[in-house]
Amino acid sequence: MPVETSYQTRTVLKNLSNRGRQSSQKVHYQLTPNELLAHTLKKGQGILNDSGALVVRTGQFTGRSPKDRFILRDDVTQNAINWNEFNIPIEPKYFDIIYKKVISYLEDLPEVWIRDCYACADAQYRLNIRVINEQPWGNLFAYNMLLRPLEEDIEGLSPEWSVISLPGLKLDPKECGIRQTNASLISFKHKLILVAGSSYTGEIKKGIFTILNYILPHEKKVLSMHCSANMGKERDTAIFFGLSGTGKTTLSADPKRKLIGDDEHGWTGENVFNFEGGCYAKCINLSEEKEPEIFHAIRTGALVENVAFFPGTNRINFDDASVTENTRVSYPLNYICNAQDPSVGNVPKNIFFLTCDAFGVLPPISKLTAGQAMYQFISGYTAKVAGTETGITEPKPTFSACFGAPFLPLHPGIYAHMLGDKMEKYNVNVWLVNTGWTGGPYGTGQRIKLSYTRAMIAAALENQFDNIKFQNDPVFGVAVPIECPSVPCDILNPRNTWFNKDAYDEKARHLATLFAQNFEKYAGGVNEEVLAAAPNL
Ligand code: ATP
Ligand code: MN
Repeated sequence: MPVETSYQTRTVLKNLSNRGRQSSQKVHYQLTPNELLAHTLKKGQGILNDSGALVVRTGQFTGRSPKDRFILRDDVTQNAINWNEFNIPIEPKYFDIIYKKVISYLEDLPEVWIRDCYACADAQYRLNIRVINEQPWGNLFAYNMLLRPLEEDIEGLSPEWSVISLPGLKLDPKECGIRQTNASLISFKHKLILVAGSSYTGEIKKGIFTILNYILPHEKKVLSMHCSANMGKERDTAIFFGLSGTGKTTLSADPKRKLIGDDEHGWTGENVFNFEGGCYAKCINLSEEKEPEIFHAIRTGALVENVAFFPGTNRINFDDASVTENTRVSYPLNYICNAQDPSVGNVPKNIFFLTCDAFGVLPPISKLTAGQAMYQFISGYTAKVAGTETGITEPKPTFSACFGAPFLPLHPGIYAHMLGDKMEKYNVNVWLVNTGWTGGPYGTGQRIKLSYTRAMIAAALENQFDNIKFQNDPVFGVAVPIECPSVPCDILNPRNTWFNKDAYDEKARHLATLFAQNFEKYAGGVNEEVLAAAPNL
């Protein structure tokens, strides 16, 4: 593929601007990963580590900035979007101002990197997307994370949506009607995602996820989900919902099962399909021993963000959180050796809700009734550990509807109803898995061993709980197995793992209260069965 052609230059500019002025800008269209890597190195924007991956720093932002994520409020979105703390409206007047600035900044750049790619592995829902980057490695992220069209299809490909990512463009908050100098904007009318002032690549990924969470349920009757997915030898699909850090990526990479995808999926009448073409894995404390699949994906073509090296070497110190806890690597799905291609699987047989309960109260695995499944899905509980914030020693509980509230432009009830109908129709097993603390809360106990969590999930997937007795948790009502292959029995009931039983009971009551308080706002919209699944106070 030639690096530049006048045809491509013209098309790109025509698409971007109606000014159509002549430009000396270099447009790098559809470069290979190796070319993008070479450009990044040449510009001094990255370094290779000892396994050949490209290591970059994302600068000021090492995570998404949800408070700076706006959706254009116009006749298209006014009544459809669930305006809230995550779906912040921006008025057309300001959007137009920002759009003009974006285009003129873009046209003045000496070089841009453009790639045509798509989302949604099921051809029926394919969404063609053009990603335009100010930096070559941003374009490598798009290559890794989105689906890659066949070379022979490129010529006739017409992008429906565009993403323009301009980390160097700082906006004037007052003039632009935004909070600070950076912003991510979505316009459903212009079919455009604009990212200004941040080079955190996750903004691109989650921007696309957000639009799919609108388009698929709203226009195509497909349930969009913040989950990973894999399938067994019998083509039995499992999906893993969970908020950030709960284990979607880690637990879906399983040598015994084929990986469908690590973060975003759709559930149609017939199948489950991945939205993306890659994985975006956390690197903090990554070890070859515990997570071999992810560890070995860090090689030529992979893009590693915000890690530090051992002094004087280009060997990554995965335990170093000096830049951020949120160190990441993106790589194409096929870097995981048993990836499913195309990333489509049967409708799920098992659903796992992953929660990282830092209170150490929820059982490490439990089985949910239909009512409990809905209750947990709507609640979307996890708890973050405060460790990095000074003065906070208690875990911070988070309730995020459908395990993904920041990415849901529609009311959570829409997704919840769709999931409820599907769970019933397909008679899916639903499990709640606590990948968080055991033996006490954060500070006293410890995070449950990954090998135990993997064993419990394997047992559920291989029907090994079929002949095992369950006991209902007295507070949360969920059914807890009394034994599990390869896992010590005494950790299955969390109360057993606490030295101080009164302290456990108190924490369990505390968490139950938090669930109840959070659920108040949904109580009016659910049936008796779901209400009855509330924890027992
Ligand atoms: P995101 O939505 O941000 O991508 P995620 O749900 O994919 O988050 P992971 O990337 O899988 O989360 O992160 C889980 C982290 O927790 C990993 O770093 C993993 O090593 C660590 N971990 C420790 N113990 C466990 C456990 N028992 N189960 C799952 N993950 C564990
Ligand atoms: Mn993940």
